[in-house]
Amino acid sequence: MKLRKFALISLLTLISLPLNAFNLSIYPSSPVEGDPVLLSVSGVKTCPEGEIFGKKLRFRKYKDRWIAIFGIDLMRKPGIYNLALIVKEKGKLKKKIVKLPVGKRIFALQKLTLSKRYDELSKSDLERIERENREIRALWSLNTPVKWHGKFIHPLGRKFEGIHGHRFGARRIINGIPRKPHSGADYPAPEGTPVYAPNDGVVVLTGNHFFAGNSIYIDHGGGLISMYFHLSKILVHKGEHVRKGQKIGEVGATGRVTGPHLHFGVYWLGNRIDPDKLLSLPVPGE
Ligand SMILES: [Zn+2]
Repeated sequence: MKLRKFALISLLTLISLPLNAFNLSIYPSSPVEGDPVLLSVSGVKTCPEGEIFGKKLRFRKYKDRWIAIFGIDLMRKPGIYNLALIVKEKGKLKKKIVKLPVGKRIFALQKLTLSKRYDELSKSDLERIERENREIRALWSLNTPVKWHGKFIHPLGRKFEGIHGHRFGARRIINGIPRKPHSGADYPAPEGTPVYAPNDGVVVLTGNHFFAGNSIYIDHGGGLISMYFHLSKILVHKGEHVRKGQKIGEVGATGRVTGPHLHFGVYWLGNRIDPDKLLSLPVPGE
């Protein structure tokens, strides 16, 4: 772990004893748009509550600490944001406000030419897309108890550890028209390459979607949802509990693609975060 990157913000007040010190560490200490952020609170016995961007944090206990992950959307305006924490100290609830700076990140520009099938949409295509989007959007309010533990592993396995996906956050111009930024990372891999769950969770949606092709969505709890698109095979079903490292599907080229690859996306309560940064987050534990 790079200690230099680890900001230790002590909120110890003059009246509290060092043994009762409430400490908060934030990783990375200076996050940018699209970053996942790891919080660790120590010095309090009961589970803290917290809020940022108007969304609730969920903590899990690890040894003598409470840890939580939240995400900064890739379009979040750089600036200073309030991170509010409510902790119980000496039997009293105390509210702490931490000023969190969010920095700018420069994203790539991607120009794509796609076949008309995916660019000129019929009425029934649009209806299908809207139906699928409604189902997907409903997932962004899920904030279930934390199921993740320890580091997230690469969904394409050990061989891909450290290999970064392409074009996270890329501002896209499709057939000459600006579109939504790319919300995940693409990892080219041969069709049939196994796809693994990066952490424990529950499958909350599977389907064959217009753009994403065969897709799987996993709820890891605390608002973190990971997704896998363009699969050739889906090996899990909605409601299934999956374990870190469990095979959930295979890479394919279904939906709107130019070749076989895995699109891996991660959202925190609807905030689109960089999957590679989640994989490198130093989450303590096994
Ligand atoms: Zn993609």
